[in-house]
Amino acid sequence: MPGAKVYDQTTATRLNLGSDNQIASVDFRRADGSTGTAAGKVVVVAAHGIETPRLLLNSKQEGASNGVANSSDQVGRNLMDHPTRLSWAEAAEPVWPYRGPLSTSGIENLRDGDFRAQRGAFRIEIGNDGHSWPTGAPTTTAADLAMQGLRGDALNEKIKDVTSRQIRLASLVEQSPDANNRVTLDPDKTDANGVPLPRIHYDLDEYTRAGLDAAEAAHEEVFAAIGATNVKHAVDTQGAGHIIGTVRMGDDPSQAVVNADQRSFDHSNLFILGSGTFPTSATANPTLTIAALSLKSVDAIAETVR
Ligand SMILES: Cc1cc2nc3c(=O)[nH]c(=O)nc-3n(C[C@H](O)[C@H](O)[C@H](O)COP(=O)(O)OP(=O)(O)OC[C@H]3O[C@@H](n4cnc5c(N)ncnc54)[C@H](O)[C@@H]3O)c2cc1C
Repeated sequence: MPGAKVYDQTTATRLNLGSDNQIASVDFRRADGSTGTAAGKVVVVAAHGIETPRLLLNSKQEGASNGVANSSDQVGRNLMDHPTRLSWAEAAEPVWPYRGPLSTSGIENLRDGDFRAQRGAFRIEIGNDGHSWPTGAPTTTAADLAMQGLRGDALNEKIKDVTSRQIRLASLVEQSPDANNRVTLDPDKTDANGVPLPRIHYDLDEYTRAGLDAAEAAHEEVFAAIGATNVKHAVDTQGAGHIIGTVRMGDDPSQAVVNADQRSFDHSNLFILGSGTFPTSATANPTLTIAALSLKSVDAIAETVR
């Protein structure tokens, strides 16, 4: 882009307010410790669901006493993931994992229905990575079989037999927004840039836990239908790495941080992009929606620059 400057290895540390409640500039610190300030007509923050609220909350100042873009007190709140129920088993026949994409297919038609009044929905991902996620297979498979006393050709044959039949299911469960699940700033600890570390409170409510239980029951059903044996379920709920919420989108400035263009209600030249703006999590992996919403924001950003 003509006139664009890219600063790599550089961390934004604070947003500064100017006149008319606009964001006038962004303070930053380079990896070598030097600091600077960037200014522009529009500021776009796209640092994901933890770092974005961290930056906004760290920008407390006159005119933004609760942090930038936070007159609603919603910045940092409603942190979500897709809590995941992980199950694995041995199929009756070879399914040939460890080749091709990580996930070969999924069961996607369980994502909606009247049951959502009672519990979270889920989608089932059929893993193609054998038992590597839950057990560290195939290395651990070989070690386990050797520990059972198998050696030489017998060990070799058994490794081939077992690994070719390893099947894994992971259900990504809808998590409902909860204002108490939130990112705040650590009152004592800071990073090398002097920015307070994020402090995270995160829990699962009954609605979400009921979704995880239903997912486990569905896994049992699938495994039974294909005659799988040695069915196991992870004791702990897994995370999907899908950080959602913390700068929620909405219609009401008193309840949300950004509008449908991902424009801050408080500062009209500030756009906040990413899955942080999702008001709910649903069950789908987030990145295509992040991209779609970002493309939608481009028109509003361009209009503001003009
Ligand atoms: C293990 C794993 C598996 C996943 N699998 C899938 C999948 O299959 N499908 C899917 O849709 N999604 C998946 N995701 C989620 C996906 O990675 C995220 O949705 C996506 O990366 C978010 O993009 P983003 O640009 O908003 O944030 P990020 O990719 O996190 O980019 C944010 C950037 O901001 C930078 N940054 C942060 N703070 C500052 C600051 N203060 N100053 C300057 N820069 C800063 C960071 O360094 C980073 O480069 C997965 C995530 C994980 C962890």
